[in-house]
Amino acid sequence: MPICKLCGGPAAYFIEHSKMMLCRECFIKYYERKVYNTVMKHGMLRGAGRVAIAVSGGKDSTALLTAMSKLAREKFPGIEVMAIHINLGIEGYSEKCQEIVERVCENLGVELVIHDLFSAEGYRIPDLRSTPLRRRICGACGTVKRYLMNRLAYELGADRLATGHNLDDVVELLFELYLRGSVEDLVRVKPISRSDNPKLVTKIKPLIELTERENLYYALAHEMPILDSSCPLVEGSRMLRRKRLIDLIEREITGFKHMLYKSHVKRILPRLEKSVAEPNLVECERCGMPSLASRCSYCKLISMLAARSAESSP
Ligand code: SF4
Ligand code: ZN
Repeated sequence: MPICKLCGGPAAYFIEHSKMMLCRECFIKYYERKVYNTVMKHGMLRGAGRVAIAVSGGKDSTALLTAMSKLAREKFPGIEVMAIHINLGIEGYSEKCQEIVERVCENLGVELVIHDLFSAEGYRIPDLRSTPLRRRICGACGTVKRYLMNRLAYELGADRLATGHNLDDVVELLFELYLRGSVEDLVRVKPISRSDNPKLVTKIKPLIELTERENLYYALAHEMPILDSSCPLVEGSRMLRRKRLIDLIEREITGFKHMLYKSHVKRILPRLEKSVAEPNLVECERCGMPSLASRCSYCKLISMLAARSAESSP
């Protein structure tokens, strides 16, 4: 039987990049220490009072909520943690996501705010298929989630918005952006995006140094319910192909993902930040939220949707 490298007990989890077997208890301690170190290294909770966690029902955000609620209880008792979930109205999928999020929040005793897209905003994600955005529905869905999560966190008085982005997500994105040479986008890939604009909540990624697999292990170690289906609208085959390619590189060069991420954050990002100017934000003429143009990308998307429904109504 494999034994835990730290305590010699029966091992349950294999940490690939450090080639280490750990038992459940040692894995939980290892994982939570990594989250704590990431939070402290980047001052993610410095001066924070209310932290909103974006939860989808997937393994990453479930692991994030579990770890952050524990961290707040044990190390930052002055900080309040709450969860926000957006029900996207995707038939046969969103109901399951919401049910899992409700169970996880109940298990953890965390306040949950559910924003139902259809009852609150009057449309569902599949409705976007009627617009020119149908070919890039995941991109449009991402715009909706990013905009609403920020607006909800702001309206709920949160001063941090934490998301479950993991190392695999970030390395895949870096890989693509470096290939394309998208300097303006690369500068935004970072563990914390601070904001002094009151309507733009500071974003943090406490799981940025943890892999998808480690997040899955952590959620399973806490016997949290895990979503067993994927979104029927999923595109992302290129993204999945890139992730598979990066996994192959990692098998040949152990620690590749951590190296790429760390080189970006420590060596390249500070230089990019000096050379790329901060974007000039104005208020969106429709919703009043911060925007790069007179109308924000969310409002442009909503206008497109409204135009399509006007065209199709008798
Ligand atoms: Fe949205 Fe695409 Fe994710 Fe489905 S797979 S929830 S459409 S981003
Ligand atoms: Zn707007």
